[in-house]
Amino acid sequence: MLQVDSINVYYGDVQVLYNVSLQVGCQEIVALLGSNGAGKTTTLKTITGLLKKQTGNISLQGKTLEKMPAYQMVSHGIAMVPEGRKLFPNMTVRENLMIGAFHPEAFARAKESMAWILDMFPRVNERLNQLAGTLSGGEQQMVAISRALMSRPRLLLLDEPSLGLAPNLVEQIFDTIQELNIKQGLTVLVVEQNAQMALQIAHRAYVLENGEIVLSDNADQLLNSEKVREAYLGL
Ligand code: ATP
Repeated sequence: MLQVDSINVYYGDVQVLYNVSLQVGCQEIVALLGSNGAGKTTTLKTITGLLKKQTGNISLQGKTLEKMPAYQMVSHGIAMVPEGRKLFPNMTVRENLMIGAFHPEAFARAKESMAWILDMFPRVNERLNQLAGTLSGGEQQMVAISRALMSRPRLLLLDEPSLGLAPNLVEQIFDTIQELNIKQGLTVLVVEQNAQMALQIAHRAYVLENGEIVLSDNADQLLNSEKVREAYLGL
């Protein structure tokens, strides 16, 4: 579904991504792992058009995403859950969710989308009229995922969904991602520092180190390799 071919990305004169290539197949969960500053967020932002690549190509279902502004990505079936949730704190949960359905096609299905999303996240349902800024971290992450789902994406990009959450909540969030993949056929690219957790739900994974993909394999293979666990996954 998503094909990233040899992208090079700079912040000013400083190169941060070096020939990064990755693929995400239809209905796959793919994890992009790596330590702080490896370039994971930069990769996601480049896919969504928030950052420009110097060279390389990115395509979705065979169609190149070249020169497409970030706001149009959503109409091509891509939604992103950003690091740190980035909710609108002074708006209610319901209003935050509706922002996810700003695209006309998603807006037309907003009622139906809201119903299945709230069924999946009863906690969000309970908090619909609460200001998003007053939610707990875990609740905010659920709202951030719900908001992305309101656009009815085919490909969901998640940036560090486990960040700052208690272990039981992390598990809950990852269970939900897996459920979305199995039951709704959602394709997922998840960026994580919590490699152990991500590899438990991912089919495949890539490891980024200093802006380069240094490893890619099936999640099971990565989890079971002693060398890989020590050298790249900090396990
Ligand atoms: P983390 O897990 O800490 O978020 P990451 O793997 O997502 O790390 P990036 O945020 O993609 O890493 O950052 C990759 C590199 O690019 C880092 O060295 C970072 O300092 C640098 N960088 C990120 N954003 C900018 C920016 N706006 N201007 C300049 N350099 C940046």
